[in-house]
Amino acid sequence: MWAVLGCPHCKAPLQAQEAQTRVTCAPCRLSWPVEEGIPRLAPEHAVAEPPVSGT
Ligand SMILES: [Zn+2]
Repeated sequence: MWAVLGCPHCKAPLQAQEAQTRVTCAPCRLSWPVEEGIPRLAPEHAVAEPPVSGT
């Protein structure tokens, strides 16, 4: 399915998160919402992911 979609910025494969309600790009640390099964990859929908730390 759309799991093979690439990041609009770096073209890395997007990863589904949270029961496929969001997709994320690890290299960019950005995520986008998935609405009715369709990733909304518009720039205005991109959300910066918090840095992953040791906790
Ligand atoms: Zn990216």
